[in-house]
Formats: sequence, C-alpha cells, structure tokens
Amino acid sequence: MARLIDYEPFVGKSTIEELSLLAGHLRGKVMQHINATAVGGGVAEILNWLVPLFRDLGIDARWDVIKGNEKFFVITKKIHNMLHGRKEELTKEDIEYYEEVGDFNLREMNFAGDFMFIHDPQPLTLVKKKAEMGRKWVWRCHIDSTLAEPSLWNYLAGYVKDYDAAIFSTTAFSKDLPIRQVIISPSIDPLSDKNKELEEAFIDRILERFQIDKNRPIVTQISRFDYQKDPLGVIKVYRLVKKRIDCQLVLAGGGATDDPEGQKILEMVREESRDDPDIHVLLLPPASDKEINALQRASSVVLQKSLREGFGLTVAEALWKERPVVASATGGIPLQVVHNYTGLLSHTIEGTAGFVKQLLQNPEYAKRLGSNGREHIRQNFLVTRHIRDYLLLMLSLEREGDFIYL
Ligand code: UDP
Repeated sequence: MARLIDYEPFVGKSTIEELSLLAGHLRGKVMQHINATAVGGGVAEILNWLVPLFRDLGIDARWDVIKGNEKFFVITKKIHNMLHGRKEELTKEDIEYYEEVGDFNLREMNFAGDFMFIHDPQPLTLVKKKAEMGRKWVWRCHIDSTLAEPSLWNYLAGYVKDYDAAIFSTTAFSKDLPIRQVIISPSIDPLSDKNKELEEAFIDRILERFQIDKNRPIVTQISRFDYQKDPLGVIKVYRLVKKRIDCQLVLAGGGATDDPEGQKILEMVREESRDDPDIHVLLLPPASDKEINALQRASSVVLQKSLREGFGLTVAEALWKERPVVASATGGIPLQVVHNYTGLLSHTIEGTAGFVKQLLQNPEYAKRLGSNGREHIRQNFLVTRHIRDYLLLMLSLEREGDFIYL
C-alpha cells in the first residue's frame, strides 16, 4: 500500500510537507465516504486510494457502500441519465422506491463521520440523518448535471440544500443552491496498478493474450459499456480511420454493480463489431488494473468519445502515460485536454476520425501532445492536489467564520 511520502518524487517535498501540516489540524477526525458501488467506475477508483492515504495522514477515513437491489439501481441509473440530460420515464413509484431504499440504508448503516462525504445521487437522501447526528455533510457530485432535467433537479435539490456544502468537478457544473459550493476535480494515483510504470515484456504479453497485433496502430477506448461513452460512435470513428490507415480498435471495459445497462450496450457493441477481427471488444473483470494500464500504454491513440462526462479519469490515465488523446469537448474533459497542447478535442465523429488520422500520421506531434499531457496531469490531477483540496474543505467547514492559522 502506497504511503504519502512515496509521492514525493512526483510532486516534491514541500507538497508532502504541506499536506502533513494541514492534516495535523484534523488528526483523529473521522472522514466517512458513502457511495453506491465498491467496484467499477471512477468513484470507486478514487475511494480506493483516498482511504489509505488519509489514514496515513492520521485522519480516520472510512468508506461504506449503500445496499440496493436491481430495481433500485435501474431507478438510480435513470436519475443518473436524467442528470446528464437524457430523457427517461421516472415515475412517482420510482421516487417512492428510491426513498424507501434510502430509508432502509439509514436504518442499516453506521454513521460515524465528523465529516460525511456522500457521493452522487444514489445515497443522497442519507442526509436525513443530519438532523439527528449533526456533523458536517458534503454532497460530492461527480456528474455533469448542467443539462439536468429541471423537475428532477428540483427534487434532488430539496435534499442537496440540507448539506453543508456541495462539491462539483468544475465551475461549469455549479448550481443555484443556498449552500456552499466547492470545486474539486478528481485525480489519479500514479502508483496504482492502473498507472504505474510497466515492463515492456508485460505489455507485450497482454497484447498477445488479447490477440492484438503490436505492429499495427492501436486505437483504444477504455470505458464501462455505457450509452454516454458512445462506444458505437467510437466504432464509426474507427471505420473512417480504417479506410486510410490499417489500424485496430480496442474497446475495453467492465461493468459496475450500480449500472444495470452495461450488458445491453455490450451486446450492441458486439453485434456491431462482429464482422471485423480488428475490433477487439474486451469485457474485463474487476481488478483488471494492470491489463488496462498495459492497453493504455500500448495504444497509438486513446479516445474518449463520451457524449457527457463528469471528468473522465480514463483521460487523465492516458495523458499520464504520455498517450496522445482525442476526446469529446464535453463536461470535465476540457480541464484535462487543452486543445492542441495536451491532446485534441472534438465535437463530431468525422472530426474525431480526422484527428486520429493526423496523430497516426505525425508521431512527433503525437509525442509532443503526450508529453505535455503528462506534465499537465502531474501539476493538476494527481492524488496530492486532491487530498489538499479535501483537507482545506474540512478545515474550512470545521472552522466556519474563523481564520485558519496553519
Ligand atoms: N475502469 C476499469 N475497468 C473497466 C472500465 C473502466 O477499471 O473495465 C476504470 C477506468 O480505468 C477509470 C474508471 O474505471 O479509472 C472510470 O472512471 P471515469 O471517470 O473515466 O468514468 P465513469 O465510469 O466514472 O463514468
């Protein structure tokens, strides 16, 4: 398990010292995170490193997952999609069931945090507990809800307003709310199996295992099989590129326990790609971090053609590995991909295909974007920046109105 000091080579001594100094004011405090899944998706990815590193700083970080069944997660996926602006049928009965499962978790779970961090809409209603236990409650929204369906947002806001603060990934996602709003963008762990350096021989073995030809260009998108990640759009991009350049496409992803739509999308993708042996649709089991790492490192170009995207950790992961990235100009992606500097941003299938061709034909240019990308991630989107933001938020919540003497 990594310790904070292990990050010094990436961010320097003073950054690590500052974190210790800040954490010293919160030593022994309990920081409890609650989300909807232990496996799959960006939130679980972040909580996996966050808990041990906060513990290393002397803060009693904990992570609990709400219980829900298929019916509940179908409803919360609809809510998720509607926050992204997609049309869904959400009935009065759906809302009643959503609240019922929330109340069940209220009874079943242990609430121990001095600071309660509730992630995304699935466990949102747990804030009902605040009236009884007090403490500081923060809602952490990972979703780009700028186009949220208004009546749904108004309903959710009825709960959000009971929190002490709401965190969004970028200023563009902020809302009209009567509580404090804080901008904290996600981050990646450079020492995790997902992101650490790998031996060339290991990468080759992974390519062999998946029967991917290392001698021809590889275009990759790593994502859950989700409509919002537009895997069918990715196949269209690949087909346009393939007319000119003999490349391969890797679409790799797994499921998340709180996402019941994955199977249907995977079947559509398989159907669409059946006749082309150069399209590799890989359904990865949980804990495939080293495989994903190897696939990203082996890629000539990494795509993230999301229709909507809260942040897109996969983008940060690829940039960290100095890969040239072509991604949609949506949600939190432009925080990471600065067009023509750390990667390329696109709005259309044709535009994406054009950029992929450009990168495959100009390795020097691709390399330059990749190396700028890594530096951009190092400066802005590594765990240490994220930890600092959380520490400052907790300090400011605890000492509301007071000066903070460090
Ligand atoms: N991921 C994974 N296995 C998969 C697909 C994705 O481990 O099969 C990881 C991916 O590497 C990234 C995270 O899950 O770390 C996805 O986060 P992102 O913000 O890109 O999207 P989300 O799934 O949260 O919408």
